[in-house]
Amino acid sequence: MTTTSSVDLTIRDISTGAASGSTCAATLLAAPWDIDRVPDSYGPGASMDDPVPADAPRQGEIPREYREASEAELDRRIRAAKAELGERVVVLGHFYQRDEVVQYADYVGDSFQLAKAATAHQEAEAIIFCGVHFMAETADLLSAPEQAVILPNLAAGCSMADMADIDQVEECWEQLMEVYGEGETADSEAGADGLAPIIPVTYMNSSAAIKGFVGRHGGIVCTSSNASAVLQWAFERGRRVLFFPDQHLGRNTAKAMGIPLEQMPMWNPRRPLGGNDEQTLREAQVVLWHGFCSVHKRFTTSQIDQARVEHPGVRVIVHPECPMPVVDAADESGSTDYIRRAIEGATEPTTFAIGTEINLVQRLAAQHPQHTIFCLDPVICPCSTMYRIHPGYLAWVLESLLEGEVINRISVGQDVAEPARLALERMLAVKPAAPGPAAGR
Ligand code: SF4
Repeated sequence: MTTTSSVDLTIRDISTGAASGSTCAATLLAAPWDIDRVPDSYGPGASMDDPVPADAPRQGEIPREYREASEAELDRRIRAAKAELGERVVVLGHFYQRDEVVQYADYVGDSFQLAKAATAHQEAEAIIFCGVHFMAETADLLSAPEQAVILPNLAAGCSMADMADIDQVEECWEQLMEVYGEGETADSEAGADGLAPIIPVTYMNSSAAIKGFVGRHGGIVCTSSNASAVLQWAFERGRRVLFFPDQHLGRNTAKAMGIPLEQMPMWNPRRPLGGNDEQTLREAQVVLWHGFCSVHKRFTTSQIDQARVEHPGVRVIVHPECPMPVVDAADESGSTDYIRRAIEGATEPTTFAIGTEINLVQRLAAQHPQHTIFCLDPVICPCSTMYRIHPGYLAWVLESLLEGEVINRISVGQDVAEPARLALERMLAVKPAAPGPAAGR
């Protein structure tokens, strides 16, 4: 395998035989605008086998000049448009975004860091979010009303966020209220112990509609950095938690807090009572939505075993979106920001095996040549939806702004925005947990 920081170049080298290694899909080499023509696919990469909701946003064909421009021409046009727009635009790049796009970002970070970065630029009339749909929605919730948040490719959704559909969540809540509140609207009523029967908690990686639902029902948003502190907040107000969309973050966090697995039933939205009986739901402390991230689901304990055999003394750090056995077998688990800081903080040359998205891992490896850093998964398989953003789309939205046209604006309706902001504000008011990793093995 090559050691370039660019995953795109690695994919190209492997696909053309210029380098050894393997990728998860031959179509990773296809242009994203060709993938845009396949409406029922997230595109090549980790989410390629996940079903796409019928109402997921689609991306229409972008003008031919952007599809046919060379890398050098796109580079020249993006830089020229950014220079001319100046402070009128801020470009945000997620940690998992390809280097070919991240190089133009004014800020690089996780979804919440980027949304907050956007709020620091009230003078910008447009915020271009090189990430996925729910991230652009969060930036819209936190930015000024007159600022336009732009997602360069509307098909850049998130398969995990899409797993919690608002209609299914409303239906789930109704069923839970019947179990806990005997048909009453028990979510607003505390019992004799002063606690509500259940508090909804959503991961940042969810649609604005879900954040709005949570805000309306006394709930809160969490990130992978503050999930433990947020669950603590929820248990101070309710007897149970409904956690969505990521079962793994919910399970890993609750387990580290000492909650037994048998008190964490899964809610499958396609089955009555989520596939549970009433007794199980009454005894539950955390009801886990049946969602997952297809990027982090790829990591396995065998990969960790192999890393330990091949690299004695390796430090294994995985993201808490990984399945529980993987988190348990790792040395540490933590958010993308935790992983980044752990590597930056290592004073001696160290070998790191990392369980998170390949673009971040390869970038960290290039930034820290004193360490050996590699992805636990030897197969190159980027996040399908992040991968839908390409410099061609960035050039298109930037040059359109220069012509006074806002393309692909992401706007959250007022009815959803108000409760969604409330859920975010509750999160911001939560005192952070003591710093440090979640315990691995
Ligand atoms: S890495 Fe997973 S959670 Fe993040 S955007 Fe991709 S599919 Fe969604």
